Amino acid sequence: MARGSAARKAKFGFKQFVWGVLALAAVASLVAPVSGQAQQGVLNLYSARHYQTDEALYRTFTEQTGIKINRIELGDEPLLQRLKSEGANSPADVVLLVDAARLWRAQIDGLFQPIDSKVLNERIPANLRANDGSWYGFSTRARVIVYDKAKIKPQEVDSYEKLADPVNKGRVCTRSGSHPYMLSLIGAMVERSGEAATEQWARGMVANMARPPRGGDTDQIRAVASGECGVALTNTYYWVRLMRSSDPKDKEVVARVGFLWPNQATSGTHVNIAGGGVARHSPNRASAIRFLEYLSSPQAQAYFADGNNEWPVLKDVELNNPALASLGKYKAESVPVSSIGKGQIAAQRILDRVGYR
Ligand code: FE
Repeated sequence: MARGSAARKAKFGFKQFVWGVLALAAVASLVAPVSGQAQQGVLNLYSARHYQTDEALYRTFTEQTGIKINRIELGDEPLLQRLKSEGANSPADVVLLVDAARLWRAQIDGLFQPIDSKVLNERIPANLRANDGSWYGFSTRARVIVYDKAKIKPQEVDSYEKLADPVNKGRVCTRSGSHPYMLSLIGAMVERSGEAATEQWARGMVANMARPPRGGDTDQIRAVASGECGVALTNTYYWVRLMRSSDPKDKEVVARVGFLWPNQATSGTHVNIAGGGVARHSPNRASAIRFLEYLSSPQAQAYFADGNNEWPVLKDVELNNPALASLGKYKAESVPVSSIGKGQIAAQRILDRVGYR
């Protein structure tokens, strides 16, 4: 049997082979667009959220609507690349990203289709969404300062600006300057203080580093606890996650590390969002809008807070997260989230100039 088919293959000439390939290509071109066609009761979700606690969030949507979610989870950058390369054939209905700078980038690149949802426009504050309905913020997080309580006085590190002061030489740790969380922080600084002042600040940061930038936010907190770093930046939910951990090692980290809200006497703490919008070529547009509206519902908003330790954007959501609540209230910066993205290009230029990796 195997021998017979080998003999037939041998007789199968080059001409037949070429025709075969052409025929296959023709079939493939007919089949390919199906991936971007509407499917009853299905939602294709491209998500850069990578939080285990989101499972319940998605499950509840399916239970409420009968719409099955096909989820593709990638990092922000690969996700945007994939959307671009798929172009008009993309099956993506909803795109979720975890940073204002990335949302802005996707908006500028035309990867969203603006929508006009009365529900979303009513529920989500204007400063937490795009000005044209391209994307909406569904949760907020703040970028805060953590420090070594044994060695450092809080008044030496109570603003982003102070981290660049000579008094903090050899103390400062951050993740890569080019990470979206840092680009948004620095982008907001550019919006607030201008490019020259921000560049001077960035030089001071590089001069003060305890080690070259590396790792994620939780790594920075742990490095403060171990004494390798004196002061570091983190998003709030990483800190609250450690606060809620039952692991004795995490408890020790939390006991050693001080937490403070930066810039309370001046411009306020930097706030970022996780959010999303309807994909430009969404084949299931109605389901996509329904999903975004669901994300703004009190129930979904509570998942963001209780599951991933983010703050809801909807007012008066009842929280069941004492650790998050214990952080209390703070003064937030007034730079609108939708304009943070613009500053990131200048931010990246500054980082390149000063060698902030
Ligand atoms: Fe994160």
